[in-house]
Amino acid sequence: METRRKPADSGIRGGDAGCGRALDSSGEGGTASGKAGVARKRARLIRQRLLASYDVERRSLPWRGESDPYRIWVSEVMLQQTRVETVVPYYEAWMARFPDLLSLAEAEEDEVLRAWQGLGYYSRARRLHRGARMVRERFAGSLPSDSAGLRDLPGVGEYTAGAVASIAFGEVVPAVDGNVRRVLSRLFDLSNPKPGQLRELAATLVDPDRPGDFNQAFMEFGSLVCTPRRPRCDTCPLASECLALERGTADERPAKPARNPVPAMDVVVLVAMAEDADGRTLLLLRKRPPKGLLAGMWEFPGVKVEGELDGPPRRQTPSLHPGAAQRLARELGVLVGQREPIELAPVIHAFSHLRARYRPYLVRPSPPASLEAPDGTPRWWVLEELEGIPLPVAQQKILRSALDATRG
Ligand code: SF4
Repeated sequence: METRRKPADSGIRGGDAGCGRALDSSGEGGTASGKAGVARKRARLIRQRLLASYDVERRSLPWRGESDPYRIWVSEVMLQQTRVETVVPYYEAWMARFPDLLSLAEAEEDEVLRAWQGLGYYSRARRLHRGARMVRERFAGSLPSDSAGLRDLPGVGEYTAGAVASIAFGEVVPAVDGNVRRVLSRLFDLSNPKPGQLRELAATLVDPDRPGDFNQAFMEFGSLVCTPRRPRCDTCPLASECLALERGTADERPAKPARNPVPAMDVVVLVAMAEDADGRTLLLLRKRPPKGLLAGMWEFPGVKVEGELDGPPRRQTPSLHPGAAQRLARELGVLVGQREPIELAPVIHAFSHLRARYRPYLVRPSPPASLEAPDGTPRWWVLEELEGIPLPVAQQKILRSALDATRG
């Protein structure tokens, strides 16, 4: 699996500078100048072999060979914490919709979120959008051309700045993502390296003539060869330089962080579905607040039910008392007589920091007199219009479940 993570800060330039100190993890004796010479030779060997392998075996990806900084920026943001195979169709659709920075800057936020829908971590899309507007207003539409300038953009950390600056502008600067961290930890047999140590090591390895290719080669190598599980050491072009292989510690490098239990959240969701005089299906949705989880996206109204459903979310749970759904329906003015809301199948969704279990309830009120509603309040949508608004994946599942229940 190839995913990329944001690293911490750097500032160290590539080439052989500082090579002796950074690369000397052998613990062998020798003079300082002798060690530095060995380290330089080793760095050269590693970068030559990585680039040689990359030149022959690199994958064909839509952003490969790209020189437009905007397109490289978008690809790097999409690749953060997301698999390459998942990103490819999103990247292509995005470029068809927002082919350049100005088209993104001019788009409405709903449109941007809609294009990102299903990719997750929506804050990335909002920051890209804000960044595009900032570049249009402050930099006359051209991205800053070095890593320091790129860091001023929202959501651009050390990793993204290094990747974009090296690939688009040829700056000799490292880009340490999760793949590179793992490879470095193994090459130098480091159990729990600090971000600064990794940056220093990566900076000594970056090829001064092909920094962008080198950074991509390093990440690709971690994704395809030096994989988290069962690295392909038997065919690895860096095997002769790998301390973890020599010491039999590759599977333990880097050390796995202790995992804290993921908190759980239960939400009772109300799906109010009506039919108007023309036979159109109407659904009541509300927009989430502009900050926080799934900011600015649309959802069925819901209420957290802390304390009612203790313990981690499971698919099979005792039937929930629909009281919360009824209260919500009453608040929204869509309670239907004495009939209880219909309980739909729960929807489980894992966010990065919590697991949510949505417990949807369906009510079938009379159609509203008007579809208009003041900003900030729930509003009715015609079913077909939902294609045009950003709806998180879990909400789409709830919608499908409600439609199945009414069609059955
Ligand atoms: Fe990774 Fe194995 Fe190559 Fe070492 S020898 S860099 S552990 S694939």
